[in-house]
Amino acid sequence: MDILAALFREVGAPVSVERIKLDPPAPTEILVRIAAVGLCRTDYHVMRGERRVAMQPMVLGHEAAGVVEEVGAAVSGAKPGDHVVLTFIPGCGTCRWCRRGLHHFCAEGPRITQGPQLDGTYRRRDRAGADVGAFCMVGGFAERTVVDQASVVVIDRDIPLDLASLVACGVPAGVGAARHRARVRRGESVLVVGCGGDGMNVVQGAALNGATKIIAADIVRAKIDWARDFGATHGLIAQGDRLTHAVLELTDGIGVDHAFVCINPPETLLPAFRATAKGGNVVVTALTPDSVSEIKISPLELLVTQKAIMGAVYGFASPRVQIPELLMLYRQGALKLRELITRTYRLDEINRGYADLDAGRNLRGVVVFDH
Ligand SMILES: [Zn+2]
Ligand SMILES: [Zn+2]
Repeated sequence: MDILAALFREVGAPVSVERIKLDPPAPTEILVRIAAVGLCRTDYHVMRGERRVAMQPMVLGHEAAGVVEEVGAAVSGAKPGDHVVLTFIPGCGTCRWCRRGLHHFCAEGPRITQGPQLDGTYRRRDRAGADVGAFCMVGGFAERTVVDQASVVVIDRDIPLDLASLVACGVPAGVGAARHRARVRRGESVLVVGCGGDGMNVVQGAALNGATKIIAADIVRAKIDWARDFGATHGLIAQGDRLTHAVLELTDGIGVDHAFVCINPPETLLPAFRATAKGGNVVVTALTPDSVSEIKISPLELLVTQKAIMGAVYGFASPRVQIPELLMLYRQGALKLRELITRTYRLDEINRGYADLDAGRNLRGVVVFDH
């Protein structure tokens, strides 16, 4: 069938909204009509060449939710009409990680920047007949997509699909980093550096777990103000050494129990590390551009302060477990989702959406479709 899709064709250029061909689903695949797809910074890193993908053209977009229209003969667990969230890492179900319920570690994960489907073939072609990849095996910046059942989580139909798209990436990444990776506990203190899609959800995850001091740091004042609505108790517009000193001042010179690096780790990891208390955790949730391969931290400082530096992808929990859990928290009124959406866009406005993200105007921009 013919679909409208936003194609990444060239580094540094806007994505190109075009009509392309989409093939029917293979036996283990599912055709999904996209309802909403979030504008996450990761796609922007790809557009700018800061995160390399293996091919062009490619349909970007990995924070998507929609409705199942057709399933392949071997699909179990999803049927036409089901509402689904698409996961940006597939859960193959058979690798050593998936067998332990750790889908966020799936052995197929490293292939999500390659372009083809999980089975190694393509379902999309442009007008010239060239194969078109699907970023994260999702390809969400399109009216419809075909994904393997490994990338699908069925959700309850009463959840608005624009809100459901948010639990495909930013919300589990942030809330999970606080709850499942750092395991923030009641009464503890937290620093969140970068209050965008991930960071704002670290703030709400830390608040959910009962943190009493939540320091939100950003260089955009509006994000500090938004962070207070999500549970931040303090706001800092600072970076580098100034950030470290300001955090130490707010914590009687001790530092925070947990620091979260949610933007630009090459610049923010060291100040966050130094703002963390002895024995505390430093959690990195943000991507680093491919051009930066290392940062320097003193091994002696690491030893004597006994801190832990850790990574968290997908909130360090299986999306199959976390997505239903997050939607339950939303239903109970414990998790804010609607408040995360700053603006919505049509697919043909997607480049304006990314300009708004770049200018710091959005907490989350979302492309919505009215099919
Ligand atoms: Zn994302
Ligand atoms: Zn797997």
